[in-house]
Amino acid sequence: MFLQKLHQRLRKRRSDFMAGKDKACRKCKLLVKGSKCPICNGNDFSRSWKGVIFVKDPEGSEVAQLLEIKVPGRYCLWVK
Ligand SMILES: [Zn+2]
Repeated sequence: MFLQKLHQRLRKRRSDFMAGKDKACRKCKLLVKGSKCPICNGNDFSRSWKGVIFVKDPEGSEVAQLLEIKVPGRYCLWVK
């Protein structure tokens, strides 16, 4: 019974995650919760995005350099 509940909760959390509640800035690919992008101050957002990467240390991350990410944060890999 307990395990079943845990499973349900996990499944719910996963679907929340997949739904992509956050908006992605079309310019920086940063995932933004507010109404303005903290990097470019723009508000050109898209809800069609895929993949999430966490960048902690842009200087030391090959992926960050490949994606030209200069500010630590949560980014998507692809935005429509
Ligand atoms: Zn931006």
